Amino acid sequence: MKILKLIRFFTFAFLIFSAVYVSLLFIQGRPAIEGIEELQKLPKKKEVTLKVISNWDNNRVSVKIIQEGREIKIFEDSVMGGETPINLIIEPKKYGLKDGKAKVMVTIDAYILVRRSYTVDTFIDTIPPKIYLIASTPTVKQGSSGAVKTQTTDAERVVVMVGKKEYPLYKMDKNTFFGIFPVDVEEDPNTYIKIVAYDKVGNTASITLPTKIRRTRFKRYVVDITDDMIRRKILPLLGDEGEGLSPVDAFKKVNEEWRERDEKIISEIGKKSEPRKLWEGRFLQLKNSKVISYFGELRYYRYKGRIVSKSRHLGYDLASIKNAKVQAANNGVVVYVGDLGIYGNTIIIDHGLGVMSLYSHLGSMLVKEGEYVRKGQIIGTTDTTGLAFGDHLHFAIIVQGVEVTPLEWWDPKWLKNNIERIMNS
Ligand SMILES: [Zn+2]
Repeated sequence: MKILKLIRFFTFAFLIFSAVYVSLLFIQGRPAIEGIEELQKLPKKKEVTLKVISNWDNNRVSVKIIQEGREIKIFEDSVMGGETPINLIIEPKKYGLKDGKAKVMVTIDAYILVRRSYTVDTFIDTIPPKIYLIASTPTVKQGSSGAVKTQTTDAERVVVMVGKKEYPLYKMDKNTFFGIFPVDVEEDPNTYIKIVAYDKVGNTASITLPTKIRRTRFKRYVVDITDDMIRRKILPLLGDEGEGLSPVDAFKKVNEEWRERDEKIISEIGKKSEPRKLWEGRFLQLKNSKVISYFGELRYYRYKGRIVSKSRHLGYDLASIKNAKVQAANNGVVVYVGDLGIYGNTIIIDHGLGVMSLYSHLGSMLVKEGEYVRKGQIIGTTDTTGLAFGDHLHFAIIVQGVEVTPLEWWDPKWLKNNIERIMNS
Protein backbone atom coordinates (compact mmCIF):
# COMPACT_ATOMS: atom_id res chain seq x y z
CA MET A 1 0.00 0.00 0.00
CA LYS A 2 2.80 2.34 1.01
CA ILE A 3 4.68 1.66 -2.21
CA LEU A 4 1.61 2.37 -4.25
CA LYS A 5 1.20 5.70 -2.45
CA LEU A 6 4.83 6.50 -3.10
CA ILE A 7 4.52 5.70 -6.81
CA ARG A 8 1.42 7.83 -6.99
CA PHE A 9 3.23 10.67 -5.28
CA PHE A 10 6.22 10.49 -7.62
CA THR A 11 4.09 10.21 -10.69
CA PHE A 12 2.15 13.23 -9.56
CA ALA A 13 5.36 15.16 -8.78
CA PHE A 14 6.82 14.22 -12.14
CA LEU A 15 3.68 15.37 -13.96
CA ILE A 16 3.71 18.68 -12.09
CA PHE A 17 7.39 19.14 -12.85
CA SER A 18 6.88 18.33 -16.54
CA ALA A 19 3.91 20.65 -16.77
CA VAL A 20 5.86 23.51 -15.19
CA TYR A 21 8.87 22.78 -17.39
CA VAL A 22 6.85 22.60 -20.60
CA SER A 23 4.88 25.74 -19.79
CA LEU A 24 8.10 27.59 -18.88
CA LEU A 25 9.57 26.49 -22.19
CA PHE A 26 6.42 27.65 -23.87
CA ILE A 27 6.45 31.01 -22.11
CA GLN A 28 10.20 31.63 -22.19
CA GLY A 29 10.78 30.16 -25.62
CA ARG A 30 14.11 28.90 -26.89
CA PRO A 31 17.08 31.24 -26.93
CA ALA A 32 18.34 32.48 -30.28
CA ILE A 33 21.42 34.10 -31.79
CA GLU A 34 21.40 36.74 -34.52
CA GLY A 35 24.25 37.67 -36.84
CA ILE A 36 25.38 34.12 -37.58
CA GLU A 37 25.61 34.88 -41.33
CA GLU A 38 28.54 37.19 -40.51
CA LEU A 39 30.59 34.02 -40.00
CA GLN A 40 30.26 32.79 -43.61
CA LYS A 41 33.50 34.50 -44.63
CA LEU A 42 36.60 34.70 -42.49
CA PRO A 43 39.46 37.01 -43.49
CA LYS A 44 42.77 37.44 -41.65
CA LYS A 45 41.01 39.24 -38.85
CA LYS A 46 37.30 39.64 -38.43
CA GLU A 47 35.30 41.46 -35.83
CA VAL A 48 31.84 39.97 -35.45
CA THR A 49 29.03 40.98 -33.15
CA LEU A 50 26.51 38.23 -32.41
CA LYS A 51 23.31 39.06 -30.58
CA VAL A 52 22.01 36.62 -27.98
CA ILE A 53 18.25 36.81 -27.50
CA SER A 54 16.99 34.81 -24.56
CA ASN A 55 14.26 35.01 -21.95
CA TRP A 56 16.28 32.73 -19.67
CA ASP A 57 18.37 34.48 -17.03
CA ASN A 58 21.52 32.47 -17.64
CA ASN A 59 22.87 31.19 -20.95
CA ARG A 60 26.06 29.40 -21.87
CA VAL A 61 27.34 30.37 -25.31
CA SER A 62 30.18 28.67 -27.16
CA VAL A 63 31.70 29.23 -30.60
CA LYS A 64 33.85 26.57 -32.27
CA ILE A 65 35.57 26.36 -35.62
CA ILE A 66 35.83 22.88 -37.12
CA GLN A 67 38.29 22.07 -39.90
CA GLU A 68 39.48 18.65 -41.06
CA GLY A 69 38.36 16.94 -37.86
CA ARG A 70 39.97 19.56 -35.59
CA GLU A 71 37.76 21.50 -33.23
CA ILE A 72 38.92 24.86 -31.92
CA LYS A 73 36.90 26.64 -29.28
CA ILE A 74 37.24 30.38 -29.80
CA PHE A 75 34.65 31.57 -27.30
CA GLU A 76 32.81 30.27 -24.25
CA ASP A 77 31.08 32.31 -21.62
CA SER A 78 27.90 32.86 -19.62
CA VAL A 79 25.56 35.46 -20.99
CA MET A 80 22.68 37.17 -19.21
CA GLY A 81 19.13 37.07 -20.51
CA GLY A 82 17.48 39.70 -22.67
CA GLU A 83 19.37 40.93 -25.72
CA THR A 84 23.11 40.71 -25.21
CA PRO A 85 25.78 41.41 -27.82
CA ILE A 86 28.88 39.21 -27.94
CA ASN A 87 31.90 40.74 -29.63
CA LEU A 88 34.28 38.27 -31.24
CA ILE A 89 37.62 38.93 -32.87
CA ILE A 90 38.39 35.96 -35.09
CA GLU A 91 41.93 35.44 -36.37
CA PRO A 92 42.03 32.02 -38.11
CA LYS A 93 45.85 31.90 -38.44
CA LYS A 94 46.32 32.31 -34.70
CA TYR A 95 44.33 29.13 -34.15
CA GLY A 96 46.44 27.23 -36.69
CA LEU A 97 43.60 27.03 -39.22
CA LYS A 98 44.33 26.79 -42.95
CA ASP A 99 42.87 28.88 -45.75
CA GLY A 100 39.90 27.03 -47.25
CA LYS A 101 36.63 25.53 -46.10
CA ALA A 102 35.63 25.13 -42.46
CA LYS A 103 32.54 25.07 -40.27
CA VAL A 104 31.61 27.37 -37.43
CA MET A 105 29.36 25.99 -34.69
CA VAL A 106 27.60 28.33 -32.31
CA THR A 107 25.76 26.78 -29.36
CA ILE A 108 23.61 28.34 -26.70
CA ASP A 109 22.45 26.43 -23.61
CA ALA A 110 19.90 27.78 -21.20
CA TYR A 111 18.64 25.10 -18.75
CA ILE A 112 18.74 21.36 -19.30
CA LEU A 113 17.25 20.45 -22.64
CA VAL A 114 16.99 24.09 -23.70
CA ARG A 115 19.72 24.24 -26.29
CA ARG A 116 20.11 25.70 -29.71
CA SER A 117 22.93 25.05 -32.17
CA TYR A 118 23.84 26.77 -35.41
CA THR A 119 26.31 25.44 -37.93
CA VAL A 120 27.66 27.71 -40.66
CA ASP A 121 29.76 26.72 -43.67
CA THR A 122 32.56 29.19 -43.84
CA PHE A 123 35.50 30.07 -46.06
CA ILE A 124 38.83 31.17 -44.62
CA ASP A 125 41.07 33.42 -46.73
CA THR A 126 43.83 35.25 -44.89
CA ILE A 127 45.73 36.65 -47.87
CA PRO A 128 44.89 40.32 -48.52
CA PRO A 129 44.50 41.67 -52.09
CA LYS A 130 47.32 43.64 -53.69
CA ILE A 131 46.84 47.12 -55.09
CA TYR A 132 49.02 49.32 -57.30
CA LEU A 133 48.41 52.86 -58.45
CA ILE A 134 48.49 53.36 -62.22
CA ALA A 135 47.63 57.09 -62.30
CA SER A 136 45.68 59.76 -60.44
CA THR A 137 44.79 63.43 -60.89
CA PRO A 138 47.71 65.36 -59.31
CA THR A 139 45.71 68.22 -57.78
CA VAL A 140 42.01 68.53 -57.05
CA LYS A 141 40.47 71.78 -55.92
CA GLN A 142 37.75 72.00 -53.26
CA GLY A 143 34.46 71.58 -55.12
CA SER A 144 36.15 69.81 -58.00
CA SER A 145 36.70 66.28 -59.31
CA GLY A 146 39.61 63.89 -59.78
CA ALA A 147 40.20 60.45 -61.23
CA VAL A 148 42.19 57.38 -60.27
CA LYS A 149 43.14 54.12 -61.94
CA THR A 150 44.52 51.08 -60.14
CA GLN A 151 45.78 47.60 -60.81
CA THR A 152 44.83 44.93 -58.27
CA THR A 153 45.11 41.22 -57.68
CA ASP A 154 42.26 39.34 -56.07
CA ALA A 155 40.17 42.46 -55.40
CA GLU A 156 36.40 42.23 -55.62
CA ARG A 157 35.60 45.85 -54.76
CA VAL A 158 37.76 48.98 -54.78
CA VAL A 159 36.80 52.34 -53.35
CA VAL A 160 38.39 55.76 -53.17
CA MET A 161 38.13 57.44 -49.78
CA VAL A 162 38.28 61.19 -49.42
CA GLY A 163 38.66 61.33 -45.65
CA LYS A 164 35.75 59.21 -44.43
CA LYS A 165 33.65 59.63 -47.59
CA GLU A 166 33.67 56.55 -49.77
CA TYR A 167 33.14 56.39 -53.55
CA PRO A 168 33.23 53.15 -55.56
CA LEU A 169 35.61 52.63 -58.46
CA TYR A 170 34.37 50.87 -61.59
CA LYS A 171 35.82 47.59 -62.77
CA MET A 172 37.39 48.06 -66.23
CA ASP A 173 38.64 44.49 -66.61
CA LYS A 174 39.47 41.63 -64.24
CA ASN A 175 42.12 43.52 -62.27
CA THR A 176 41.80 47.17 -63.31
CA PHE A 177 39.59 49.67 -61.54
CA PHE A 178 38.90 53.29 -62.51
CA GLY A 179 36.83 55.96 -60.88
CA ILE A 180 36.03 59.64 -60.70
CA PHE A 181 35.63 61.14 -57.27
CA PRO A 182 34.39 64.48 -55.93
CA VAL A 183 36.13 66.68 -53.39
CA ASP A 184 33.49 68.51 -51.40
CA VAL A 185 33.50 72.34 -51.39
CA GLU A 186 34.17 72.25 -47.67
CA GLU A 187 36.73 69.42 -47.62
CA ASP A 188 39.78 70.10 -45.43
CA PRO A 189 42.80 70.48 -47.78
CA ASN A 190 44.83 68.28 -45.39
CA THR A 191 42.52 65.32 -45.94
CA TYR A 192 44.20 62.20 -47.31
CA ILE A 193 42.76 60.50 -50.35
CA LYS A 194 43.12 56.73 -50.18
CA ILE A 195 42.29 53.70 -52.27
CA VAL A 196 40.98 50.65 -50.44
CA ALA A 197 40.64 47.23 -52.07
CA TYR A 198 38.46 44.48 -50.60
CA ASP A 199 38.61 40.79 -51.53
CA LYS A 200 35.68 38.35 -51.40
CA VAL A 201 35.97 37.63 -47.70
CA GLY A 202 36.73 41.18 -46.58
CA ASN A 203 40.55 41.35 -46.42
CA THR A 204 41.67 44.86 -47.29
CA ALA A 205 44.68 46.65 -48.73
CA SER A 206 45.07 50.38 -49.09
CA ILE A 207 47.33 53.03 -50.55
CA THR A 208 47.37 56.79 -50.10
CA LEU A 209 47.19 58.79 -53.33
CA PRO A 210 49.74 61.51 -54.12
CA THR A 211 46.72 63.66 -55.07
CA LYS A 212 46.67 67.01 -53.26
CA ILE A 213 43.57 69.00 -52.36
CA ARG A 214 43.86 72.70 -53.11
CA ARG A 215 41.94 75.35 -51.22
CA THR A 216 39.49 77.36 -53.34
CA ARG A 217 38.14 80.79 -52.57
CA PHE A 218 34.42 81.03 -53.05
CA LYS A 219 32.63 84.34 -53.34
CA ARG A 220 30.44 85.36 -50.41
CA TYR A 221 27.73 87.96 -50.71
CA VAL A 222 24.51 89.23 -49.24
CA VAL A 223 21.14 88.91 -50.94
CA ASP A 224 18.34 91.16 -49.70
CA ILE A 225 14.95 89.48 -49.48
CA THR A 226 11.77 91.49 -49.41
CA ASP A 227 8.16 90.82 -48.46
CA ASP A 228 7.32 91.21 -52.12
CA MET A 229 9.75 88.41 -53.12
CA ILE A 230 8.32 86.16 -50.44
CA ARG A 231 4.76 86.88 -51.51
CA ARG A 232 5.53 86.49 -55.19
CA LYS A 233 7.81 83.42 -55.09
CA ILE A 234 8.14 81.68 -51.73
CA LEU A 235 4.47 81.45 -50.67
CA PRO A 236 3.21 80.10 -54.03
CA LEU A 237 6.05 77.55 -53.93
CA LEU A 238 5.12 76.43 -50.40
CA GLY A 239 1.38 76.17 -51.02
CA ASP A 240 -0.33 74.64 -47.95
CA GLU A 241 3.05 74.21 -46.24
CA GLY A 242 3.36 77.97 -45.95
CA GLU A 243 0.14 78.53 -44.03
CA GLY A 244 0.62 80.47 -40.80
CA LEU A 245 4.36 81.00 -41.34
CA SER A 246 6.02 84.40 -40.89
CA PRO A 247 7.79 85.73 -44.02
CA VAL A 248 11.20 84.76 -42.58
CA ASP A 249 10.07 81.28 -41.55
CA ALA A 250 8.53 80.75 -44.97
CA PHE A 251 11.81 81.74 -46.62
CA LYS A 252 13.85 79.56 -44.28
CA LYS A 253 11.58 76.58 -44.91
CA VAL A 254 12.27 76.74 -48.64
CA ASN A 255 15.92 77.79 -48.48
CA GLU A 256 16.94 75.35 -45.75
CA GLU A 257 14.45 72.47 -45.30
CA TRP A 258 13.50 72.12 -48.95
CA ARG A 259 17.09 72.58 -50.09
CA GLU A 260 18.34 69.83 -47.75
CA ARG A 261 15.56 67.47 -48.89
CA ASP A 262 16.22 68.18 -52.58
CA GLU A 263 19.99 67.77 -52.16
CA LYS A 264 19.37 64.34 -50.62
CA ILE A 265 17.28 63.32 -53.63
CA ILE A 266 20.01 64.52 -56.03
CA SER A 267 22.66 62.69 -54.02
CA GLU A 268 20.68 59.41 -54.14
CA ILE A 269 20.10 59.71 -57.91
CA GLY A 270 23.78 60.52 -58.36
CA LYS A 271 24.88 57.23 -56.83
CA LYS A 272 23.28 55.02 -59.49
CA SER A 273 25.24 55.48 -62.68
CA GLU A 274 26.01 53.43 -65.80
CA PRO A 275 29.28 51.55 -65.29
CA ARG A 276 30.71 52.83 -68.60
CA LYS A 277 31.65 56.16 -70.14
CA LEU A 278 28.83 57.60 -72.24
CA TRP A 279 30.14 61.14 -72.64
CA GLU A 280 32.30 62.25 -75.56
CA GLY A 281 34.63 65.20 -75.25
CA ARG A 282 33.87 68.39 -73.37
CA PHE A 283 30.46 69.24 -71.90
CA LEU A 284 28.38 72.00 -73.48
CA GLN A 285 27.47 75.26 -71.79
CA LEU A 286 24.08 76.87 -72.51
CA LYS A 287 24.37 78.59 -75.91
CA ASN A 288 24.97 82.36 -75.95
CA SER A 289 24.65 82.53 -72.21
CA LYS A 290 26.09 84.81 -69.59
CA VAL A 291 27.18 83.54 -66.17
CA ILE A 292 25.09 85.26 -63.52
CA SER A 293 26.12 83.08 -60.57
CA TYR A 294 29.13 80.82 -59.98
CA PHE A 295 29.66 77.44 -58.32
CA GLY A 296 30.37 77.36 -54.59
CA GLU A 297 29.22 80.89 -53.78
CA LEU A 298 28.04 81.41 -50.22
CA ARG A 299 24.89 83.50 -50.11
CA TYR A 300 23.74 85.25 -46.97
CA TYR A 301 20.11 86.34 -47.01
CA ARG A 302 19.19 89.63 -45.34
CA TYR A 303 15.66 90.55 -44.32
CA LYS A 304 15.01 94.03 -42.90
CA GLY A 305 18.71 94.49 -42.10
CA ARG A 306 19.23 91.11 -40.43
CA ILE A 307 20.94 87.99 -41.85
CA VAL A 308 18.29 85.28 -41.52
CA SER A 309 19.56 82.40 -43.65
CA LYS A 310 22.43 81.22 -45.83
CA SER A 311 23.06 78.71 -48.58
CA ARG A 312 25.80 77.38 -50.83
CA HIS A 313 25.22 77.66 -54.57
CA LEU A 314 26.15 74.30 -56.08
CA GLY A 315 25.95 75.06 -59.79
CA TYR A 316 26.23 77.78 -62.42
CA ASP A 317 23.38 80.14 -63.20
CA LEU A 318 23.33 80.87 -66.92
CA ALA A 319 21.11 83.48 -68.50
CA SER A 320 20.25 83.80 -72.15
CA ILE A 321 17.04 84.94 -73.80
CA LYS A 322 13.68 84.16 -72.20
CA ASN A 323 12.66 80.49 -72.66
CA ALA A 324 15.98 79.67 -74.31
CA LYS A 325 16.46 76.19 -75.70
CA VAL A 326 18.48 73.91 -73.40
CA GLN A 327 20.79 71.29 -74.91
CA ALA A 328 22.02 68.06 -73.34
CA ALA A 329 25.57 68.89 -72.23
CA ASN A 330 26.76 65.49 -73.41
CA ASN A 331 25.62 61.99 -74.42
CA GLY A 332 23.83 60.07 -71.71
CA VAL A 333 20.68 58.54 -70.31
CA VAL A 334 17.96 60.68 -68.73
CA VAL A 335 17.57 59.50 -65.12
CA TYR A 336 15.25 62.19 -63.72
CA VAL A 337 12.49 64.37 -65.13
CA GLY A 338 10.24 66.14 -62.65
CA ASP A 339 9.48 68.89 -60.19
CA LEU A 340 12.33 68.99 -57.66
CA GLY A 341 11.36 71.52 -54.98
CA ILE A 342 13.66 74.56 -55.03
CA TYR A 343 15.06 73.41 -58.37
CA GLY A 344 11.64 73.44 -60.04
CA ASN A 345 11.31 71.52 -63.29
CA THR A 346 14.51 69.50 -63.43
CA ILE A 347 16.22 67.04 -65.77
CA ILE A 348 19.19 64.90 -64.73
CA ILE A 349 21.28 63.08 -67.35
CA ASP A 350 23.64 60.22 -66.47
CA HIS A 351 26.86 60.29 -68.51
CA GLY A 352 28.25 57.11 -66.94
CA LEU A 353 31.03 56.34 -64.44
CA GLY A 354 29.27 58.43 -61.80
CA VAL A 355 29.10 61.67 -63.83
CA MET A 356 25.74 63.41 -64.28
CA SER A 357 24.48 66.82 -65.39
CA LEU A 358 21.50 68.66 -63.92
CA TYR A 359 19.27 71.30 -65.55
CA SER A 360 16.91 73.30 -63.32
CA HIS A 361 14.21 76.00 -63.29
CA LEU A 362 13.07 74.68 -66.69
CA GLY A 363 9.76 75.43 -68.38
CA SER A 364 9.09 72.71 -70.90
CA MET A 365 10.81 69.34 -70.57
CA LEU A 366 11.04 67.36 -73.78
CA VAL A 367 12.61 64.07 -72.67
CA LYS A 368 11.53 61.06 -70.61
CA GLU A 369 13.31 59.05 -67.94
CA GLY A 370 15.25 56.17 -69.49
CA GLU A 371 15.66 58.00 -72.81
CA TYR A 372 19.10 58.13 -74.42
CA VAL A 373 20.08 61.66 -75.44
CA ARG A 374 22.85 62.89 -77.69
CA LYS A 375 25.15 65.81 -76.94
CA GLY A 376 23.50 69.00 -78.19
CA GLN A 377 19.98 67.54 -78.33
CA ILE A 378 17.28 70.00 -77.15
CA ILE A 379 15.84 68.69 -73.87
CA GLY A 380 13.76 71.67 -72.68
CA THR A 381 13.55 75.43 -72.22
CA THR A 382 14.67 77.84 -69.50
CA ASP A 383 12.14 79.43 -67.14
CA THR A 384 11.68 80.45 -63.50
CA THR A 385 10.20 77.32 -61.87
CA GLY A 386 11.33 76.55 -58.31
CA LEU A 387 13.36 79.09 -56.35
CA ALA A 388 14.32 81.32 -59.30
CA PHE A 389 13.57 85.03 -59.48
CA GLY A 390 14.47 85.48 -63.13
CA ASP A 391 14.55 83.29 -66.26
CA HIS A 392 17.81 81.31 -66.21
CA LEU A 393 19.27 77.82 -66.27
CA HIS A 394 20.78 76.41 -63.10
CA PHE A 395 23.34 73.91 -64.40
CA ALA A 396 25.25 71.46 -62.21
CA ILE A 397 27.64 68.56 -62.60
CA ILE A 398 27.21 65.73 -60.12
CA VAL A 399 30.02 63.26 -59.47
CA GLN A 400 29.03 60.18 -57.43
CA GLY A 401 26.14 62.11 -55.87
CA VAL A 402 28.14 65.25 -55.03
CA GLU A 403 27.93 68.55 -56.93
CA VAL A 404 31.22 69.79 -58.32
CA THR A 405 32.13 72.78 -60.46
CA PRO A 406 30.96 72.39 -64.09
CA LEU A 407 33.66 74.83 -65.23
CA GLU A 408 36.22 72.04 -65.60
CA TRP A 409 33.85 69.73 -67.47
CA TRP A 410 33.30 72.55 -70.02
CA ASP A 411 37.09 72.76 -70.50
CA PRO A 412 38.41 70.17 -73.02
CA LYS A 413 42.00 70.59 -71.80
CA TRP A 414 41.15 69.99 -68.16
CA LEU A 415 38.99 67.01 -69.07
CA LYS A 416 41.76 65.45 -71.14
CA ASN A 417 44.52 65.99 -68.57
CA ASN A 418 42.69 65.22 -65.38
CA ILE A 419 40.13 62.57 -66.28
CA GLU A 420 40.66 61.01 -69.70
CA ARG A 421 44.45 60.75 -69.45
CA ILE A 422 44.07 58.87 -66.14
CA MET A 423 41.42 56.63 -67.67
CA ASN A 424 43.62 55.75 -70.66
CA SER A 425 46.85 55.25 -68.65
ZN1 LIG B 1 21.43 78.41 -59.37
